[in-house]
Amino acid sequence: MARLSARARPERERVLVPARQSCLGCGGHMRLRYENRRSLVTLSGSVRLRLRIRRCEAPGCSRFHLPYRPEAEGAIALPQHEFGLDVIALVGVLRHRDHRSVPEIHAALQGRGVEIAERSVTNLLDRYDELLASALTGTRRLRRVLKAQGGVILALDGLQPDVGHEVLWVLRDCLSGEVLLARSLLSSRSEDLVPLLEEVAAAVGVPILGVISDGQTSIRRAVAEALPGVPHQLCHFHFLREAAHPVFEADRNAKKELKKRVRGVRRIERSVEGSEEPAAEVARGYCAAVRSAITDDGQAPLAASGLKLRSRLQAVADSLDRVAEKGAERRRSRGCAD
Ligand SMILES: [Zn+2]
Repeated sequence: MARLSARARPERERVLVPARQSCLGCGGHMRLRYENRRSLVTLSGSVRLRLRIRRCEAPGCSRFHLPYRPEAEGAIALPQHEFGLDVIALVGVLRHRDHRSVPEIHAALQGRGVEIAERSVTNLLDRYDELLASALTGTRRLRRVLKAQGGVILALDGLQPDVGHEVLWVLRDCLSGEVLLARSLLSSRSEDLVPLLEEVAAAVGVPILGVISDGQTSIRRAVAEALPGVPHQLCHFHFLREAAHPVFEADRNAKKELKKRVRGVRRIERSVEGSEEPAAEVARGYCAAVRSAITDDGQAPLAASGLKLRSRLQAVADSLDRVAEKGAERRRSRGCAD
């Protein structure tokens, strides 16, 4: 449907790469072949996804030229959807736990910065109900799809739009992108996840070839118990993000403290404003170096922007020290000559 108002360009971009590299058909390496893009509205703002896609290029392979998309994509959004799964999960919680009306849900979403039309709230509510009702055994089409591909790569994700409340558990197949089962649970304990995994395993009618998750302890235990022997791969992105979280927090704090120490740069800039003196020119250069260091942010979890800021400021300080030393040397040598 055409939209009446264009959405603002997403402020964030995320690149997702499939964790799996080997082809399920022939075991050969699937190369990254092309990229898909999609824009999404999530609870943490709009985001542009760049999806790297692999495919097998071995002639004669049963999966020849079939796309293999990043496993993490389905944890963020359902196929063909403009809103993230976290928004759908929140809509469901507001409706079924808090018994809010559509206009109330609409207001709550807008209050959280989600740009959405009231009509879309109704659609999301329908999608939430469909999602929970999607008993995989019921759909013949889905079973046909799974049978044709000969197995599933199961992904398991828990979405919790409000801390301390229900978790929407979504179990999906990474090969077809289909949701196999979704349940809203009050907990994330492994004993509650085991029945979900067992239900899916019994219903798919094909072997579960592997499991992908973010590696939460409860998920790891549940998979080991419900699907013994099935390889469990951790989604690199989620795992890294979880593992890097404490470092990221410490780094962010350090950066905040460092920034406080260079606040005086504005005062120096003002004092040399408009001056044509060579010394003022040099001072402006140093101020610009400090400013660009402050705004040079990397992306978590791979870049520590606090550490980066520290090394850039250190370089500025070292350079100033060298200048001071040279000045002193010159003064000394002039002193001798005089
Ligand atoms: Zn292959």
